[in-house]
Amino acid sequence: MAAQIIDGKAIAAKVRAEVAEETKRLKAERGITPGLTVVRVGDDPASKTYVGGKKKAAEEVGFNGVEIHLPDTTTEAELLARVQALNADPSVHGILVQLPLPKQIHPDVVIATIDPKKDVDGFHPVSAGNLFIGRPGFRPCTPYGIMRLLQETGVPLSGKRAVVVGRSNIVGKPMAIMLLQQNCTVTIAHSKSDVRAEVERADIVVAAVGVLELIKGEWIKPGAVVIDVGMNRNAEGKLAGDVEFKAAAERASWITPVPGGVGPMTIAMLMKNTLEAAKQSAR
Ligand code: NAP
Repeated sequence: MAAQIIDGKAIAAKVRAEVAEETKRLKAERGITPGLTVVRVGDDPASKTYVGGKKKAAEEVGFNGVEIHLPDTTTEAELLARVQALNADPSVHGILVQLPLPKQIHPDVVIATIDPKKDVDGFHPVSAGNLFIGRPGFRPCTPYGIMRLLQETGVPLSGKRAVVVGRSNIVGKPMAIMLLQQNCTVTIAHSKSDVRAEVERADIVVAAVGVLELIKGEWIKPGAVVIDVGMNRNAEGKLAGDVEFKAAAERASWITPVPGGVGPMTIAMLMKNTLEAAKQSAR
């Protein structure tokens, strides 16, 4: 194998340690304990695991981590009232409503109700707009974490040709904008693209599709950096990515594994955003 592995688990631990250190300082110097409240509606088993992980990570870095669990019969009006109460609560610096929501609730309406100053998921239209026009604001945690992974490789990004496969609002689109801000020449590929042709000429490949091993190892340009966001189950029921890992690692210079690559970074960057929200609340 030629590629070096980008160890997301280790880098995420480093980010969490940085956040814990700064949190200690914020408490000592300004008496502020960052507060993160995660709202979960209904009984989706994956959401339960994700929310549990976020609350645990929050407590580990020294935040006040709170989970609000509401029944799946909750109405949109009830959820909006809960969000508004959290907006008004000065001890809550970050609010996250776990998706998916039960079908009677429109996620866009809920996200737009969160105070942009507490939008630590970075999904609010104000956050998306700030990202788009290059102003400070909360960045969606998964692409934000990927930028940190890329930074840790030490590979210069300026002038590189990057392809982002996938155009979701939470991963693909913000990823493309962040790479553009680092002066990459960016292509966004999707289900109507010639993905192979785009991947073959890319120096940086970010795969955020959700299709098991869609991207073949032989498509990877020798020396490219490969970031695999995909979380799929393979035939043996194991977690696997959107990239054919073994064959891609023969050609890439750097590559993220699945699991242990992008995944751990998402929660770590949520902690970073919440710390930032707490710091800004006191300004
Ligand atoms: P999504 O909203 O389902 O978007 C998938 C994107 O992939 C769409 O833009 C779609 O194109 C494109 N696509 C689908 N099939 C394709 C094909 N055959 N060729 C090219 N493009 C194709 O997914 P998402 O929320 O961005 O998530 C993507 C993957 O990342 C999933 O596996 C998800 O589980 C994973 N994920 C991981 C993390 C993490 O923390 N590790 C976080 C978020 C997501 P169209 O727009 O044309 O339909």
